[in-house]
Amino acid sequence: MFYVSNTQLPFEQLSPTFEGELYFDNSIPHQAIRKLYATDASVYQEMPVAVALPRTIQDIQKLIHFATEHDITLIPRAAGTSLAGQVVGNGIVVDISKYFDKILEINAQEHWVRVQPGVIRDDLNFILKPYGLMFGPETSTANRAMIGGMIGNNSCGLHSISWGTTRDHLLEVKALLSDGSEMMFSPLAPRGVPSNGGTKGSSGFAIPTREYSDLQSEIYSEIFEILSNPDNQIKIQENFPKKTVTRRNTGYALDALLKSAPFGGTEDFNLSKLIAGSEGTLCFITEAKLNLLPLPPAELGLICIHCSSLHESLLANAVAMKYQPLASELVDKYIMDFTKEHNEYRHNRFFIEGDPAAMLMVEFGAETRAEVEAMAGAVVTDLTAQGLGYAYPLLFGDESKKAWDVRKAGLGLIRNLPGDTQPVNLIEDCAVAVEDLPEYIADLGEVLQKHNVHASYYAHAGAGELHVEPMVNLKTSEGKAKFRAILADTAVLLKKYNGSLSGEHGDGRLRGEFIPFMMGEEVYALFREVKNLFDPKGIFNRGKIVDTPPMNEFLRYQPDQVTLKIDTVFDFSNQESILRLAEKCSGSGDCRKTQVTGGTMCPSYMATLRERDTTRARANMLRHFYTDSTPDASNTEETKEILDLCLSCKGCKSECPSSVDISKMKAEFLQSYYDKNGVPFRSRLIANFSQQMRLASLVPWGYNLVFGNESLRRIANKVVGFHPDRTMPMLHNTTLRAWHKQRKPHPSPLLSGEGAFTPSPERRGGKGERLYLFCDEFTNYNDVEIGQKAILLLEKLGYEVIIPEHTESGRTYLSKGLVKEAKKIAIQNVGLLKDLISDETPLIGIEPSAILTFRDEYLDLVPADLKIDALRLSKNALQFDEFIAREIDTKRIHSPQFTVEPKTIKLHGHCHQKALASLTPTKKMLSLPSNYSVQLIPSGCCGMAGSFGYEREHYELSMQVGELVLFPTVRQQPEDVIIAAPGTSCRHQIKDGTGRKAKHPIEILWEALKS
Ligand SMILES: Cc1cc2nc3c(=O)[nH]c(=O)nc-3n(C[C@H](O)[C@H](O)[C@H](O)COP(=O)(O)OP(=O)(O)OC[C@H]3O[C@@H](n4cnc5c(N)ncnc54)[C@H](O)[C@@H]3O)c2cc1C
Ligand code: SF4
Ligand code: SF4
Repeated sequence: MFYVSNTQLPFEQLSPTFEGELYFDNSIPHQAIRKLYATDASVYQEMPVAVALPRTIQDIQKLIHFATEHDITLIPRAAGTSLAGQVVGNGIVVDISKYFDKILEINAQEHWVRVQPGVIRDDLNFILKPYGLMFGPETSTANRAMIGGMIGNNSCGLHSISWGTTRDHLLEVKALLSDGSEMMFSPLAPRGVPSNGGTKGSSGFAIPTREYSDLQSEIYSEIFEILSNPDNQIKIQENFPKKTVTRRNTGYALDALLKSAPFGGTEDFNLSKLIAGSEGTLCFITEAKLNLLPLPPAELGLICIHCSSLHESLLANAVAMKYQPLASELVDKYIMDFTKEHNEYRHNRFFIEGDPAAMLMVEFGAETRAEVEAMAGAVVTDLTAQGLGYAYPLLFGDESKKAWDVRKAGLGLIRNLPGDTQPVNLIEDCAVAVEDLPEYIADLGEVLQKHNVHASYYAHAGAGELHVEPMVNLKTSEGKAKFRAILADTAVLLKKYNGSLSGEHGDGRLRGEFIPFMMGEEVYALFREVKNLFDPKGIFNRGKIVDTPPMNEFLRYQPDQVTLKIDTVFDFSNQESILRLAEKCSGSGDCRKTQVTGGTMCPSYMATLRERDTTRARANMLRHFYTDSTPDASNTEETKEILDLCLSCKGCKSECPSSVDISKMKAEFLQSYYDKNGVPFRSRLIANFSQQMRLASLVPWGYNLVFGNESLRRIANKVVGFHPDRTMPMLHNTTLRAWHKQRKPHPSPLLSGEGAFTPSPERRGGKGERLYLFCDEFTNYNDVEIGQKAILLLEKLGYEVIIPEHTESGRTYLSKGLVKEAKKIAIQNVGLLKDLISDETPLIGIEPSAILTFRDEYLDLVPADLKIDALRLSKNALQFDEFIAREIDTKRIHSPQFTVEPKTIKLHGHCHQKALASLTPTKKMLSLPSNYSVQLIPSGCCGMAGSFGYEREHYELSMQVGELVLFPTVRQQPEDVIIAAPGTSCRHQIKDGTGRKAKHPIEILWEALKS
């Protein structure tokens, strides 16, 4: 196991004056956090000695001095989405993502911005949008990748052919050097014009000295010396990729510096060009000044060229490139097929016609749609003339965004391949000139055939860089050897085409070993000179770019390691096993997006901005836990600690490209924990919600007296471990079941004298008139009025509503990890309902989290002999809104049955609804009244998440999550705007957080019904 104890470094000397966070000792939280930082988005894994989250520049300086004194390396880390192991190593991982995230200055007139390295690229562009500006370079990870990381890797993305790379837009870098001094790397004055009181260098260039330290002056002098040497110039020109290769990220960018004025080029000399792509090995970046571009033209159109073979798509790419598109990107059939079953991306397949072997996505932009159509038309005419492609849909707006999302999700999606043979990042970043791409890819196909591996192909065709991901089993010695052999053979091929080993992802510890081969020993020696010059003691990210360890060492998986059989209560066979599900996490970091770019995953991270609170952290911990052959008390407690702030919102089940379902794994883990350690009192109390409510409902006034009185409630909350400020749901004076039972056949008071259900003659005996209501535990005891309105509404609309015999949903057991109890409930409910429920007599639920257990957990809880029944039941278990939307579609329910009064509704969706279903039916249902305008609140989780927000230690976080988007949006709404929320916890949270009463959509529709 990779797990090593930290060396005996005297961190206690550092920690008293360190203002940020430092994790280094052998306590459970520290060990857990070190484990989380042992990986990034690559296949590597190595335990860091410590993890630091510096808060100030002085903190970083202290780390530099500490590292120098104790001969340890610092690994600068931003979002940790590197694919080549750049931020993995046996040093101190220095995470700047939490405290270095400020935008310092925007100069809209001069088109630049100054930022700290922890600013997220998409968040930056969100702020810049009102100025009509943007930072161009983008990665598929742009909603979490940070400027420091983008500089480190010289990142770029699908628009690189028009928006360039990070290096192209880096104006200045402020950084700490290895001696702890601060240096500004900026353009130097042009040839012959001394500035800053500097001296005139041998190249005739102004070398500033006055305010520079010895090291800084030495850096300038020696770099000039290296580059002024004609032999070196020839070596660089001959060994770097040929000029038409635009993606060139291998080694240090000495070739970029040669383009500057002192060496016969036209550009300013600017050492920040060298810092871009240096992977944290030269200095520690604390600020960057970035050039900004105007926003893209108003109209963007995306032609999706459907091709019958990969080769055809690359020929089409060459044709498309003649028309200077903004982007030209490829997705192969392999990736497209993964979208078919994916919860989220299957909705994005609308533009795919037939079964293309490859799809080339070519984007054009102009001020008007007609211009874009003309550009696209010209390309399509050319393509058809050459017999390339068979369908060419042109998409705009939201449709093109959805198509792009399929392309961007490629890397994550292919991680859904079952089995241990998985696509690996290895040769995905190799680039050649666009004109060489078809031939190179054909040759590469032969290399892969020689090694007997399949691969997926996608991404930057227009830039000569296809992400080719061979399928290799890194869990075997054979796979580990193949891993290296494929890269070695590809490097030979790249030399033939004078291409680049890395185009945008960087060398890291993956490709570093092959730099001497690619660049030749002489250029490699120059790289070592550069490294020695900046960092003679190797304190910055040792072992990357130069002196890299063998590329197939320190892998995540130990070859031929025997995996234990893990007994689980849930059936994990669809994901192969619980370990395999945890292993699906590729480290892509999609779970690090913020509320600015939206989504549900992952609410705890959005609130705290700490890596430890991401889905990735939880998946990593579970992977360690279930891989370890000897789980003991300490790794069990570490895992529990990292899982603690998971709200079980299920955001990850749909939004994680690999569908890493932490909520299911957390429940399973807790069950095994309880098996050994017993169930805590509070967990038992919450899980037994139904029993508590049943008892309390015998004397509802007594319960309401205690929990309706603030002082008594605060005491009671404290006793059971709830936060004193949290209000409790009140009990109704009857249960829904009792009310429903006793009213039949009596008239209902809420029907204003009208009788209970009386089917209209034309409906009597007709199809679809009888339905079953799932009387969930929350509606039965607390939200009884909503249940009553649901029944009355359905009856008024002509349906017969029956509450069948069933038990509670099991949601409270699942949320507390009492999976064995939930299993009993699932078996009972499926047994009771399987013969009643059908397509014509569906089961309708009011509370999303309860009815959706039929569609989610029950399927993995019931034994084999009930699986088919459970599956059939799941297909006919509908949320209320889904049923109404279905009936609208079959024209059984009509708008004229509802008011024409205008109203605005702001809708907050329940997390489980978003993850397992969709909000479209809710919008449809609420739009039945013709003048109701329904707008979605762009919120993620409300923060309550069942019992989570009640619990003393989780209350603060729960409110922080609410404050991200939901509370501020609700507070901004005028009183006449209706707040809608189908979830009982969400309505409660909205009340506690804003004082506003949110309504279930059922209540809104009931009130809108014409009498
Ligand atoms: C699914 C997926 C898709 C991707 N798609 C693309 C793509 O389209 N284009 C692309 O270019 N990349 C892509 N990448 C790779 C990666 O996302 C980018 O390289 C990204 O810019 C890295 O940013 P980060 O914030 O995660 O940096 P990290 O991974 O944390 O760090 C990257 C490098 O920068 C260094 N660094 C970070 N902060 C500092 C600092 N303050 N001072 C000095 N050095 C520092 C680190 O040491 C490291 O070497 C993809 C990755 C994944 C997982
Ligand atoms: S949990 Fe999912 S989204 Fe997060 S890093 Fe892992 S694969 Fe990516
Ligand atoms: S269930 Fe929700 S809180 Fe838990 S890891 Fe997934 S997205 Fe995050």
